[in-house]
Amino acid sequence: MKKILITGAAGFLGSHLCDRFIKEGFYVIGMDNFITGDKKNIEHLLQLSNFQLVKHDVTNFINIEANLDYILHFASPASPIDYLKIPIQTLKVGALGTHNLLGLAKAKKARMLIASTSEVYGDPLVHPQTEDYYGNVNTIGPRGVYDEAKRFQESITMAYHRFHGLETRIARIFNTYGPRMRLNDGRVIPAFLGQALRGENLTVFGDGLQTRSFCYVDDQVEGIYRLLLSDYSNPVNIGNPNEITIKDFAEEIISLTGTKQKVIYKNLPQDDPLQRQPDITLAKKVLNWEPKVNRGEGMKITFEYFKSLSQEELFKSEH
Ligand code: NAD
Ligand code: UDP
Repeated sequence: MKKILITGAAGFLGSHLCDRFIKEGFYVIGMDNFITGDKKNIEHLLQLSNFQLVKHDVTNFINIEANLDYILHFASPASPIDYLKIPIQTLKVGALGTHNLLGLAKAKKARMLIASTSEVYGDPLVHPQTEDYYGNVNTIGPRGVYDEAKRFQESITMAYHRFHGLETRIARIFNTYGPRMRLNDGRVIPAFLGQALRGENLTVFGDGLQTRSFCYVDDQVEGIYRLLLSDYSNPVNIGNPNEITIKDFAEEIISLTGTKQKVIYKNLPQDDPLQRQPDITLAKKVLNWEPKVNRGEGMKITFEYFKSLSQEELFKSEH
């Protein structure tokens, strides 16, 4: 049985990846320190004989006795308000955490895939974003802690690949959504759905003309799975190219949820990217992958998930 270590296992993407690799017959070791994750996301796996949960902060030395075939490094705060709240931990998990995991991968002769991000392109001046674009990041801005950690993460990963011959893969993940996103993580989809369910107005930041392109989680997991098993070691964009302005997206949420509330406008956070859309030509070519779930379908499933949360969870405010 192939063994895989997944960091960030109790988070949104990490928990879906645990599900997928269990389904594919792997032995999965999930690691998390629960700083932004929730044990409830993987509770259903805890009784399985091929799943093990290890509570550990990956910025500290990682001791795993078992052999490992693969490592997926997904531990990191991922929403702007999380990484603004815990900026030093964000830098550390991208830098020290990645270094520890690369060292572990080298010792175990395992293949390692890192969760990079569209944020490596910053506020992009090239549209749509192709993998050969070097990006436009404000290193000292509030988002810099995340963007630069992820850029360093890519660099050290390529250094281990080139210098030590380690098998590495780099997924540049674009905005992904679905069940198990944290209601209060501040990202636009949980924010809007939570507001609609609580009967609050929807808060659009800035003039709402900034764009994003949302990928449903099952498509994202399929892309990551294919990339891990591919022989391609340069970065690959994984996302859904269907782009929409945040203002139009708020209107879609109003019709999806049937809320009687309206859109209100708030200040745009500093360095909020104006346009974001993945060019997925490379993923199509090397992974034979493209997203299958359209926004209407994916948002319906996601809304059902948020509707299933208790009133207590819905009204609990963390931020
Ligand atoms: P998430 O916050 O739901 O999950 C992150 C998980 O990592 C949490 O369970 C958290 O407790 C854990 N974690 C954080 N620091 C840790 C540490 N030092 N040690 C151990 N565990 C730690 O976020 P997510 O959306 O699932 O994102 C997962 C990964 O994918 C992140 O690396 C993120 O940067 C990347 N990513 C996500 C998106 C997206 O749209 N969801 C887009 C681009 C990149
Ligand atoms: N956004 C918004 N209202 C909110 C939360 C977010 O208008 O309540 C905007 C945000 O300014 C950004 C977009 O939605 O332009 C996506 O934000 P998110 O935090 O989901 O992801 P990211 O900026 O990292 O793409």
